[in-house]
Amino acid sequence: MKLEGLHLLFTYRCIMECDHCFVWGSPSSEETMTLKQIGELLHEAEKLSTVEWVWFEGGEPFLYYQIMLKGLSKAADMAFKIGVLSNAYWATCREDALEWLRPLAELGVASLGLSSDSYHGDDVEAERVKNGVEAALKLGIPVDVMATSKLPEKLAGLPGGVGELMYRGRAAEKLVEEASRKAWNEFRECPYEDLVNPKRVHVDPLGYVHVCQGLTIGNAWQNSFSEIIRSYDHSNHPIIQLLVEGGPAALAEKFGVSQQEEYADACHLCYMVRLALREQFPEWLTPDQMYGIQNT
Ligand code: SF4
Repeated sequence: MKLEGLHLLFTYRCIMECDHCFVWGSPSSEETMTLKQIGELLHEAEKLSTVEWVWFEGGEPFLYYQIMLKGLSKAADMAFKIGVLSNAYWATCREDALEWLRPLAELGVASLGLSSDSYHGDDVEAERVKNGVEAALKLGIPVDVMATSKLPEKLAGLPGGVGELMYRGRAAEKLVEEASRKAWNEFRECPYEDLVNPKRVHVDPLGYVHVCQGLTIGNAWQNSFSEIIRSYDHSNHPIIQLLVEGGPAALAEKFGVSQQEEYADACHLCYMVRLALREQFPEWLTPDQMYGIQNT
């Protein structure tokens, strides 16, 4: 695997509980990475010599602002390009947004993604994202608005745009009602992730290394992250090898689960099959947080 992007799910905590959130971020989620853990991961990533980007995301990384800044600073010192994803809850006005973002500009943050859409709610949210974008542009931070549904009018013309909604995580529970459906056996490939040679992985505060949210290949607090990446072979992974061979439908077929219904997309089927298989594969389909179970 030639890993290029390390995405730190720095915290599962968020001030919101968005219906489309892949990781079930919530105010009641506790887990957050420490500075020591971030430092260890960065050293492990450095050993690989292939990682270019380190992202801080969540949850909402600005909730642990000082630790985020220190972590970004460490990553920048090690010559990684650094990026941050946030919901811009902190951008209460443009002047204050400038103060929040000035340290990020000084650290050389090379990409800032600010999420906004109707699932995030009202006009106030859109106003905050607008404040954040304007402040970032003023400070010279490359910035994009990231939305998974219609962009609020207020944000029209700003950089970024609407991405595709994927029905996994909380979206598989909260948003599928209104989606059109197809038969389970039509989903014969994973449309979004390169599962043979992943270019990016997410690492969460519990140490789990995810090739897709809730689909893990090891634990970086228990084993060396660089070794997990170097030794990755999709054909040795009981879930991923099937996803590569025939998508979520192959997984459903092999284990005889989730074949009775129609699904909104490949991720919806994949998520529901994985949910049904968690007891059988606790090592690979984890943690509880990624499947909507908190504080256990
Ligand atoms: S949920 Fe399954 S189908 Fe969707 S991106 Fe992840 S691995 Fe691929």
